[in-house]
Amino acid sequence: MSKYMTKQRRILTEYLAKHTDESLTANTIAEALSDTISKSAVYRNLAAMENEGKLRRVAAGNSREVFYQYTDSDSCREHLHMSCKRCGKTYHMEQSIAKLLIDNLDKKENFSIDKGETILYGICGDCKKGKAHQ
Ligand SMILES: [Zn+2]
Ligand SMILES: [Zn+2]
Repeated sequence: MSKYMTKQRRILTEYLAKHTDESLTANTIAEALSDTISKSAVYRNLAAMENEGKLRRVAAGNSREVFYQYTDSDSCREHLHMSCKRCGKTYHMEQSIAKLLIDNLDKKENFSIDKGETILYGICGDCKKGKAHQ
């Protein structure tokens, strides 16, 4: 990979940064940017960003489509993520709760969680209430 950011890459990154923690398919992204970037360039850049660890690939619901989540923002690196298996939405765990969890694991299991790398999977509040959009 070249070190400089191409114009396409910059536009894509700006778009993704506005949609942090949303699960987007490559297709959704390509359509939103269709005025400025070709579809093949979107796919190519998404793959590159995934390789660099800036994007997370997530599976949502029963969909066969691949969803991407942008996780390179500063706030994401500071948070533990909770991902809903039903709707694919990701939430930031409240800092005080995350701290309790991390401290307890560290003390009692002698295990240090890597916040930026950890996702807890489950069902979110909206889905439990039956408000899922899917
Ligand atoms: Zn996040
Ligand atoms: Zn959900």
